[in-house]
Amino acid sequence: MSTMAYVALGANLNEPVQQIQHAVLALKSLAIDSIITVSPLYRSVPMGDVEQPDFVNGVAQFNTDLEPLALLNALQEIENAQGRVREVRWGPRTLDLDILLYEQQVIEEPRLTIPHYGMKQRSFVLIPLADINPQLILPCKTELKSLITREMRAELIQI
Ligand code: ATP
Ligand code: CA
Ligand code: CA
Repeated sequence: MSTMAYVALGANLNEPVQQIQHAVLALKSLAIDSIITVSPLYRSVPMGDVEQPDFVNGVAQFNTDLEPLALLNALQEIENAQGRVREVRWGPRTLDLDILLYEQQVIEEPRLTIPHYGMKQRSFVLIPLADINPQLILPCKTELKSLITREMRAELIQI
């Protein structure tokens, strides 16, 4: 049985828009029938104190046969294939792929927390997620739309 997953994409090095487009092609290989829905892309100011280029962010939705940890492994392989080097937390990277939601499941394992722990506070996740599914309700029963503030909308520029 397949499961619907939402994955956040982020990049701020080596032609970030192309990195995201390349990652979308790779994600197709994880999706049933290669069908994937991708949000518009946005430019966002990096989190944290590291001096680095702005990010390009988006969200993808697809159905997959992969179990959650297998999906995480596959995403990390895609990150590595696109030259991701793990250095400082929230530092610059060619590609970051985070699992936001796996259907309505709640998962807490050492390597994997779903829903993604930071998603409710991050404009660059919530806004593209709402572009794909404005009616989305999170596993905690919160309406996605209710989390998006005016300030969040002001933070993002659609590419
Ligand atoms: P943040 O998690 O705050 O967005 P980050 O994406 O920069 O920061 P990474 O270095 O990419 O953090 O990931 C650190 C670890 O987070 C990964 O090795 C992975 O095991 C773990 N992780 C936990 N939950 C998730 C999830 N839902 N999606 C992706 N990785 C996750
Ligand atoms: Ca991340
Ligand atoms: Ca990550």
